[in-house]
Formats: sequence, C-alpha cells, structure tokens
Amino acid sequence: MSQDCIFCKIIAGQIPSAKIYDRGGVYAFLDIAPVNKGHALVVSKAHHATLFDLPDDLGRELLGALKTVGRAVMSATGASGLNVGMNNFESAGQLVHHAHFHLIPRHEGDGLRLWTQHAYESVEEMQKLAQAVRSAIG
Ligand code: 5GP
Ligand code: ZN
Repeated sequence: MSQDCIFCKIIAGQIPSAKIYDRGGVYAFLDIAPVNKGHALVVSKAHHATLFDLPDDLGRELLGALKTVGRAVMSATGASGLNVGMNNFESAGQLVHHAHFHLIPRHEGDGLRLWTQHAYESVEEMQKLAQAVRSAIG
C-alpha cells in the first residue's frame, strides 16, 4: 500500500467507495465523477503506478475482471456498448497514480466523443514511424 494513494485507501476501506467487485488481487468501484452513470474503475489491489508497472502474471486475472465487471455494468445500466480506457502518465490525463482501467457504459446516441483523429502527412511518414516502433520493440 502506498501511504498517499487515494485508491490504496479505498481498497483498504479507509475511504468509502461504491464497491462492485472484490476478488483475488482485483478490486472495482464506481467512479465518483462518471462520464456516464455506471462508469467503473478496475484496479489491482497492490499499488502499481502505470500499465508498465503491472506484473504480467496479473494480466489474466485483470482481463477476467474487466470482462466480468464490464458485462455486469452493461447489464445494470442497460448500455449497448462499453469503452475500456486507461490513462498512463500525466500527459495522457492520469490523475491518480495507481494503475486503473476505466469501464464506461455507452448508449446509442449518447454523444460522447473520446478523441479526435488526424491524418499522417504521407504513407511514407506512417511507414517510417511503424519502422521506428518495430525497432523499439526489438
Ligand atoms: P485518471 O484521470 O487518473 O485516469 O482517472 C482517475 C479517476 O478517479 C477519475 O475519473 C476520478 O473521477 C476518479 N476518482 C478520483 N478520486 C476518487 C475517489 O475518491 N473516489 C472515486 N470513486 N473515484 C475517484
Ligand atoms: Zn495505490
């Protein structure tokens, strides 16, 4: 547990939350400021700051929880769709430095637009960037 982490305090029961899932190493609760009602946060109980700090062997359990909680959120809210999102680092909008997945129930015509898209200047630019990423993967 990280002493000054609000999500660690929620998991430890020191701060109240609208808990919806508590199994094994995973905890989920409703976001206090939902994009749509039912917006949930799925977190590992152990404190890890970002996606890159999460241990690989937690992946199976986390994916299972995302599916279980995601289905339940859709069912309870009558949603016809679901966005799964994760902000990593402050430039990507991460405000709480305890890795978490957002599950956002979506309804036909709810008007939410998650991001705007742009074009590459050329196919060459896109291919060059793909090569750079392949090189970084190694
Ligand atoms: P981030 O921007 O880090 O990806 O998302 C953090 C999320 O945590 C935000 O959507 C915010 O509304 C939510 N949040 C922050 N503090 C609390 C809290 O004390 N309780 C709950 N339930 N959600 C919180
Ligand atoms: Zn934490």
